[in-house]
Amino acid sequence: LVSRKKQKEDTIIKLGDTFVGGGKPMMVAGPCSVESYEQVRQVAAALKQAGITVMRGGAFKPRTSPYDFQGLGIEGLKILKEAADEFGLKTISEIVNPAHIELACDYIDVIQIGARNMQNFELLKAAGDVRTPVLLKRGLAATIDEFLHAAEYIVSRGNTQVMLIERGIRTYEKATRNTLDISAVPILKQESHLPVLVDVTHSTGRKDILAPCAKAALAAGADGIMVEVHPNPAVALSDAAQQLNIEEFNRFYNDVKQSGLLR
Ligand code: PEP
Ligand code: MN
Repeated sequence: LVSRKKQKEDTIIKLGDTFVGGGKPMMVAGPCSVESYEQVRQVAAALKQAGITVMRGGAFKPRTSPYDFQGLGIEGLKILKEAADEFGLKTISEIVNPAHIELACDYIDVIQIGARNMQNFELLKAAGDVRTPVLLKRGLAATIDEFLHAAEYIVSRGNTQVMLIERGIRTYEKATRNTLDISAVPILKQESHLPVLVDVTHSTGRKDILAPCAKAALAAGADGIMVEVHPNPAVALSDAAQQLNIEEFNRFYNDVKQSGLLR
């Protein structure tokens, strides 16, 4: 069902006034984690001012260490919604538990399935059973074929609103946190009609190369870019090293816009 052979036209997903897919690239930004109302509100205000319409923020954080900040859970989803509503933004947040999928639909506009859960098949099925759009991240070591099969799990249950996002894969290279697989973008666009985004923050793990990587992704045909922004990254409870502060975000966004590759 996700194959281009099955459907020739691009799937276009409507998030308020913003369309994902169909040739007009967009940007999603927001903090790695929802930490407090004030933190999210500051980001929401900055995004609104910049003209960004979709905000991300994690409430259930899949952390490598059990001793690291695990997220605010449902309370975090409520904070995200409250801040987004104030500025008329749409929201994306990761859900990790199939039992939370239905409840999450009351608070967020897009369910994110994280890289570590790309092949959590019960979670994929639960996301396929609702009609809220899903942002599916590529697994850390997933082939493109496995990625598309994961999307098929969701679409085959009737939820056709799926966006794919390349977020870097594990290689031997240590200069970046993961290796951004740019070639996945045109391949996914060829193989599938689903929108394809690129997460420049988690793929690179470095603030200094976000703009060139975002431009490369857009030049390769990406329908959108995801980037993390935090009012004060130094005190962030997750991904402190790689989130942009608001000023850096505005510089990044203008730089990418000036390439003419973003709408
Ligand atoms: C995230 O986007 O918050 C995240 C945890 O990313 P990933 O699942 O790609 O590691
Ligand atoms: Mn992060």
